[in-house]
Amino acid sequence: MNDYNYILKQIYQDIQPLLGKGRVADYIPALANADRNKFAMAVRLLDGTQFSIGNIDETFSIQSVSKVLSLTTVIAENDEFLSTRCGKEPSGTPFNSLVQLEYESGIPRNPFINAGALVTSDQMYTNLNNPKKDFLRFVRDLSGNRELEYNEKIARSEFKAGFRNAALINLMKDFNNIENCIDGVLDTYYHQCSIEMNCANLCDTFSFLANYGVNPINNKKVISRSVAKRINAIMLTCGTYDAVGDVAYRIGLPAKSGVGGGIIAIVPGLLTVSVWSPGLDEKGNSLAGIKALELFTTYADNSIF
Ligand code: GLU
Repeated sequence: MNDYNYILKQIYQDIQPLLGKGRVADYIPALANADRNKFAMAVRLLDGTQFSIGNIDETFSIQSVSKVLSLTTVIAENDEFLSTRCGKEPSGTPFNSLVQLEYESGIPRNPFINAGALVTSDQMYTNLNNPKKDFLRFVRDLSGNRELEYNEKIARSEFKAGFRNAALINLMKDFNNIENCIDGVLDTYYHQCSIEMNCANLCDTFSFLANYGVNPINNKKVISRSVAKRINAIMLTCGTYDAVGDVAYRIGLPAKSGVGGGIIAIVPGLLTVSVWSPGLDEKGNSLAGIKALELFTTYADNSIF
């Protein structure tokens, strides 16, 4: 077996020159002061063994990483969702772009760009009795951690400054692809993005995707094996903004990133690996995080290819 402690130490040393570099997601005022020198990384094997390095106790808002979790709740219930209300192809445009959405009559290219995540949140809003409460309970169950919370300050800050998301959802409402009231769906979406975790929580929460749909923490089936395959496939092809080709090339794992600087990656049948560092590259992925994952699959020799 790999010596993951040794591998993480090596990676931590190698990424040092990248710390303090990149841009933080200052379009969300509450994230503008994030410290680009911070870095944490964790690995969780399916048997529960954990390894970690860096600022491992620090929590951060998971932002777009949450889009995988909202999609999970939706496609568990509505298997036609990705053929009717949303596509599953890479977009080739920035995550918050409006251009493609107009051309494609309000059907987002995939569930991981903002337009797609907003339709997903709309479907979740339809499906759940109390969307914010039920979604948080779902994530707590996955993670095995009852303490996980929304960060109200971040959710509020995004709602106030989220003019692009408001434009996207209004455009989709005009195309009849939003069922519920816009403010309610936006509130649900901003809250899901604001959930705070540390890297170990992230590894726990996503372990069901490494374990073919069954949560290894409590042995509960979350989704079928086939749905787990599909979600991993969409992460590989759409999970890291319009850098997916580069990320597949360099890392070779299903992964989902967020503008808070967090990234989760899945090695099916083996482990989850997460990384966090708030300095972002020009595509919106954590600069040190992507490098760390590239080194991880190189040193541990465990990409899916
Ligand atoms: N809450 C962020 C937004 O809507 C999520 C973006 C991201 O992490 O990609 O802009």
